[in-house]
Amino acid sequence: MGTGMRALAKTKQGRGLELVEVPTPTPGPGEILVRVEAASICGTDLHIYRWDAWAQGRIRPPLITGHEFSGVVEAVGPGVKKPQVGDHVSLESHVVCHTCPACRVGNAHVCLNTEILGVDRNGGFAEYAVVPAENAWVNPKGLPFEVGAVLEPFGNAVHTVFAGSGVSGKSVLITGAGPIGLMATLVARSSGAGPILVTDVNPYRLDFARRLGADRVINPLEGDPVEVARGMTGGGVEVLLEFSGNEQAIHQGLSALLPGGEARILGIPSDPIRFDLAGELVMRGVTLFGIAGRRLWRTWIEGTALVYSGRVDLTPLITHRFPMSRYQEAFELLASGRAVKVILDPRA
Ligand code: NAD
Ligand code: ZN
Ligand code: ZN
Repeated sequence: MGTGMRALAKTKQGRGLELVEVPTPTPGPGEILVRVEAASICGTDLHIYRWDAWAQGRIRPPLITGHEFSGVVEAVGPGVKKPQVGDHVSLESHVVCHTCPACRVGNAHVCLNTEILGVDRNGGFAEYAVVPAENAWVNPKGLPFEVGAVLEPFGNAVHTVFAGSGVSGKSVLITGAGPIGLMATLVARSSGAGPILVTDVNPYRLDFARRLGADRVINPLEGDPVEVARGMTGGGVEVLLEFSGNEQAIHQGLSALLPGGEARILGIPSDPIRFDLAGELVMRGVTLFGIAGRRLWRTWIEGTALVYSGRVDLTPLITHRFPMSRYQEAFELLASGRAVKVILDPRA
């Protein structure tokens, strides 16, 4: 470990990021130093890069970005017993307080004082990152680091698919075949859902959904997902899993739902959207779940059980790899929609 490291940071308000040389941080009590081996780019990173309204309201530069990463524990701070130096770890991106009422009733994933790595505090687009030891999830040494990096968004998919009454033996509509919707397709398939319908407006991603096990893919620009869903199921799907954040897709998803069904919404619309509360939810007896983050640590246990056993293979979703120094190309590629998970190597 040298005294300085390279990091991809938002150094000032405005568009873009900067590759900077900063001192390597030292872990304090309860913290660990992770040597980052792989990091993946998330839609949130694109918001920070573009400096949109959300980013302007939330991000306080200077900030090292990146919240999906994995690596090796290089050093531990005072009092840390686990993980140990040399362990291979993925990181839960939500740093929670353990003392607020939400944490105290077992809902730390919606902690009132949540801080997100790479958003509210320094993250993992760097050669090294200091994080709370409790945020580390120790992986088997054989797990590829790039798979370790995408376990965080994979947890969003697992949380959504396993919430409520799950999907086993149920018909499912997945709206939005971005990285998380595609991961949910894999989880739904391995959990005995069927039929599985997936919508997206992006043919490249629909093609992935088809190859990953969707029974039917629908482009809402070419056909009516509601008609297809009702036709295939004789009335509607039992479960809607929403990953597009698109207003039209959300309304279509709710219409495609069988009365009495469950809507689980992870997608985040860029603006507030309107509902016909009575017509879309109340009188159809729909149960709606807002899905935030990952349950701590239930979702990590469930998700890694699928990945470690080989029942879910995330490697086909890792479509591109770049050295961190070529971050601009990597961000532009992801923004173009012709990629799924794009990995940055901070050491190359
Ligand atoms: P993404 O933006 O890559 O994927 C969204 C997909 O929706 C894209 O492929 C897009 O083409 C598709 N889409 C757009 N319009 C559509 C329409 N009308 N019908 C169907 N599909 C349409 O995002 P992602 O990384 O896969 O994340 C999925 C969503 O989850 C995003 O909205 C993201 O902000 C949100 N998210 C929420 C949480 C949480 O804790 N709740 C965490 C991470 C991400
Ligand atoms: Zn993310
Ligand atoms: Zn809390």
